[in-house]
Amino acid sequence: MSLFVPDFIFDNFYSITPEFLKGNNISAIVSDIDNTLVTYDDEKPTLRVLSWLESLASADIKISFVSNNSHERVRIFNEALGFFAVGKSGKPFKKNVLYAIEYMNVPRENVCMLGDQIFTDVLAGQNAGLKTILVPPIKDKTDILTRSKRVLEKPFLKRYKKKHKNTQFYK
Ligand SMILES: [Mg+2]
Repeated sequence: MSLFVPDFIFDNFYSITPEFLKGNNISAIVSDIDNTLVTYDDEKPTLRVLSWLESLASADIKISFVSNNSHERVRIFNEALGFFAVGKSGKPFKKNVLYAIEYMNVPRENVCMLGDQIFTDVLAGQNAGLKTILVPPIKDKTDILTRSKRVLEKPFLKRYKKKHKNTQFYK
C-alpha cells in the first residue's frame, strides 16, 4: 500500500461490480456519499444507486455509509435503506470507519473504502487498513479550495497510473 494512492480507480460507482469485488475478496464496502454515489443536490439515492445496492445485496456484499456531511443529510439519504450510516464522520480519521466495519462484522481484509477524495476517503480507508477504491467526483464544486485539492491529488493519481500501466482494466 502506498499512502494516498488508491488500490483501484473506477469511472463511477456502478462500474464496481459484485464480480470484481468478489474477485478481490471484498465482501463489504464503507462508502462515502457526496459526489461518490450522488451529487450534493440529491437528497435521496437515485435509481442508479438503488439498483447498484440491489446488485450488491444479491451477491451478499454489505455496505455502510461514512460521510463528513451533516447527520441530517446522511439520515435522509439512508432513510429508506437502513444501512449503518454516520455523518460528521471526521474522515480521514479512522474512528467511524472502524465502527462501520465492526457493525458489518466482516474481517478488515475483506472490506474496502469507496470515495471520491484522496485526502479524506482514500486516506481514511488506508488509516483503517482497508483496500481503497477512488471514483472521480460526480459533480465537482468549482470553488478555489476544491480546485486546489484536486491539484494536490494529481501526483498520486499519476503514481496510480504508473503502477497500473500494464493493467488495462484500471484507468
Ligand atoms: Mg465525497
